[in-house]
Amino acid sequence: MNSLRTYEQKRRFDQTPEPKPEKKHGESRRRFVVQKHRARNLHYDFRLEADGVLKSWAVPKGLSPNPKVKRLAMAVEDHPLDYADFEGVIPEGQYGGGTVMVWDRGTYEPENGEQIGALIKKGELKVKLKGKKLKGSWVLVRTGDRNWLLIKHRDRHASEDELTETSPRSVLTQRTLAEIASQEGGNVEKAASGDPRSLSRRKKAMRRS
Ligand code: MN
Repeated sequence: MNSLRTYEQKRRFDQTPEPKPEKKHGESRRRFVVQKHRARNLHYDFRLEADGVLKSWAVPKGLSPNPKVKRLAMAVEDHPLDYADFEGVIPEGQYGGGTVMVWDRGTYEPENGEQIGALIKKGELKVKLKGKKLKGSWVLVRTGDRNWLLIKHRDRHASEDELTETSPRSVLTQRTLAEIASQEGGNVEKAASGDPRSLSRRKKAMRRS
């Protein structure tokens, strides 16, 4: 069974710059990526490398380092490993049309077993993230069907800092969503609505002067 089938069926690869559905075996570097995605709604796509693909969840509010905060994460289709490098614009009218930013990236360690696929089926997965922004232990717990909760464990990386607000830029290129859209032919106004307001206000002031 090809777990990238759904990914492939949703996209037209002559229309979108997203990577083709290629499953890679033999590689298991346990990378993770969080992609900030201003599609119809703003969300953060959390992806973990396992079984030759990126296991994926859409997290509307993004990951919080605050252990008191439980973030809804919706399981979505597996993505190809090459997707971890994708930052750019998906054309309007295509699936997920909008601007994508590599918001954080790094490696992870499983903390309650090695068989990630089996743990996902079971509905509980503990991971230690080693990203540029996200660090320390999180737990993913399924609460029903596609719905999961993503919660920070108490450790020395726990904090009340709302990273989505305080660190809004790409870890790959330091760009804001609006800058990515503007440089890659996307909808700048729509993308800017996904940047923190302090950033878009500064931008408007710059344009006026
Ligand atoms: Mn998405």
